[in-house]
Amino acid sequence: MKRCGDCGVPKRVSAKHHWRDNGVIVTQGTELRGIFVESGLLCSVLSGIEERLGIPIEHIIIDAKRRDAKIYVDNMLKGARGRLTRMKLFRRAAYSYMVKQAAAIGLAEVTILDYRPGESLDLEMGYVYNPALFAGDVSGAFESIEGVRAKVDRTNKGGSLQMTVRAWPEAPEEERLKLEEETWAHALTSFQRCPSCGVPRELSRWRWSVDECRISDEATGEWLIYVDTAGINAVFRELERELGEDIPKMVADLSRDFYVKLDGGKGAPFLRDLRFLEYRGFGVPESMYPVADNGNKCVAVRNPWNAAVVAGCVAAACGLEGSPVNWEAPKEGRMTVILP
Ligand SMILES: [Zn+2]
Repeated sequence: MKRCGDCGVPKRVSAKHHWRDNGVIVTQGTELRGIFVESGLLCSVLSGIEERLGIPIEHIIIDAKRRDAKIYVDNMLKGARGRLTRMKLFRRAAYSYMVKQAAAIGLAEVTILDYRPGESLDLEMGYVYNPALFAGDVSGAFESIEGVRAKVDRTNKGGSLQMTVRAWPEAPEEERLKLEEETWAHALTSFQRCPSCGVPRELSRWRWSVDECRISDEATGEWLIYVDTAGINAVFRELERELGEDIPKMVADLSRDFYVKLDGGKGAPFLRDLRFLEYRGFGVPESMYPVADNGNKCVAVRNPWNAAVVAGCVAAACGLEGSPVNWEAPKEGRMTVILP
């Protein structure tokens, strides 16, 4: 893996992603937004919801992520390039490319065991960021490339995880996943960029391990990944639709708890102010500390990727432990987190 001589960030990462000045990170050449986030945050929020509700939610997670991943790959493989990639001869190469990309952004270390065009794909993997979310990713990618509905099975074999995706042409028809329309507000990030490759300077604090397919924050030891926000938002939205309107509150509280624990337990220096929101693609805070507004203390954030998670992050960074997180929903790309 080639790295930038200045900041040490892999060139694959700086070439594939663009950090816009308005705080939105997109896959180069697309409008597909993503974030850098602790895989532990996604895992602890999803398992926290399951624990609180006492019912399994994995099928909702896999299904929502699969439907979004299909749209994502459809978007990446448009036009002539898409038609070429989907020719039987080139499909295996497309999966190999995705395997490499998944490793570069920390999602998983994957080996292709067997592939039958139009029928099945067998994978073995380690260091998976979240098995349910990744099962959704894998089956959605298969659906886009093969042009057929798919289902995925998971087994644990001798400490490694295996996934088999199979074509499922007789699958019942489904509603198309609703896409969220995002309005991005004008905003200006404050981070410094690497003069050579243009990524935010803060990323040089992360350790980019080639062998383990991992990005880690040395200060906390946490494993970081890059995920597309539409997919995670689709999962949270489907959970809310199926399980009720308390889901965003739970997501906010569980996000706050995750960062409070990270700060207290391991000492997360990035939580000293709100700058970390910017270079991870979470949004751009208007102030680095809470300010007085209509008798409350507030932090306004522009272009938040998910209002509930961002509200939880702000609450944790502002030392709000245990009490509920309140926020006003985003209007034209601007949200307000209300602190007691
Ligand atoms: Zn650089």
